[in-house]
Amino acid sequence: MNHATKTQVGDIEIFVLNDGNTTFETDTFTATSTTEIKSLLDKAGQSSIKTSFNAFLIKSGDEVTLVDSGAGELFGSIAGNLNTVLNDIGIAKSDITKLIATHMHPDHIGGMIDSNGNRYFDNAELVLSIKEHTFWSNSKNFTNHPEQQAHALKVLNAYSDQLILCKSDADLGRGLSSIDIPGHTAGHIGVKVSSSSSQFIIAGDIVHAQHLQFINPNIGVTFDQDYDMAKKSRLKMFNMLSAEEIPFSGGHLLSPGVATISRDGSEYILNV
Ligand SMILES: [Zn+2]
Repeated sequence: MNHATKTQVGDIEIFVLNDGNTTFETDTFTATSTTEIKSLLDKAGQSSIKTSFNAFLIKSGDEVTLVDSGAGELFGSIAGNLNTVLNDIGIAKSDITKLIATHMHPDHIGGMIDSNGNRYFDNAELVLSIKEHTFWSNSKNFTNHPEQQAHALKVLNAYSDQLILCKSDADLGRGLSSIDIPGHTAGHIGVKVSSSSSQFIIAGDIVHAQHLQFINPNIGVTFDQDYDMAKKSRLKMFNMLSAEEIPFSGGHLLSPGVATISRDGSEYILNV
């Protein structure tokens, strides 16, 4: 089931948009074992490692921002529902004035262009971090996997006349700012939304399996470019979120996709 979850942060409206869902195999995860995974799933009453693909719509003043875009046509039937979900909340593609890419993986930028490489969002500028842009622009980083770079370059090309490269801890205007959480990719960012005294954080891809990685933040995922750096960023984000119990979402949080976390020793408890 695909849907949108709405939340209000001061004057700003945020929608968590479910682009699709799938389950991961055990060997997608690193620094763990099948025994540990089974035990964590049992504790959570789960029989498989479920995940979602999420994007986020933010209405702040006259600006309509889409953070990530789902997988578009790249993942077949398990994802690519963004358009339907945007329709459900009354948003047309032409309404969107800003795109922010937390990072350039296909499940986050697939929906920004069609299969011919044409942009879907004619009225939007595309914001990504300088570090992310540098990494994906360098073919030396993709000598073994040139196809991974190809789609990212198509997206950069489609938005080349409205490309905004930001620092990883930049003020992006209208209450939005980027949060530096490298490791999953070189220039991976989160997005903080602030209005009066309220805050909300889009935590990017710090977690891919919520029944595993909050309880044990050491568990990594094979998609992380740098396990150690990704773990450090995960802990930094968990500590930030739990210190003030800031409501948040993430690229792969399960429905309803809005939660807080609290800390219990080395474990973090997800409160949905
Ligand atoms: Zn992802």
